[in-house]
Amino acid sequence: MPALHLFTRKLDQDDTGRQILARWRAWLEVCQCDPQAPAEDCELHIVLHHCDRYTKIIDAEWNGIVEWFTGPPGKSLITPEQVAEMNQRWRLPATDESQ
Ligand SMILES: [Zn+2]
Repeated sequence: MPALHLFTRKLDQDDTGRQILARWRAWLEVCQCDPQAPAEDCELHIVLHHCDRYTKIIDAEWNGIVEWFTGPPGKSLITPEQVAEMNQRWRLPATDESQ
């Protein structure tokens, strides 16, 4: 099951979540862009663009970020095996952008 479905199903379980979901859907519906040529001033597409950029930066810098949290190699309190486990638990698999 896609992560978005799990997320929206969880939100749909109580009043606060349903309120957030309704506001989020209303925000999404404001966008009237042609998906192939989104308007430059569309707030939704500006947010999507920056989320995509953020995700790419996090992905590209992941090993450095892990090191920043755990300390430099050799001085880290966690083992390389734990770093590998963190990568497995928290990193989403790479996806093909053409899909
Ligand atoms: Zn748009």
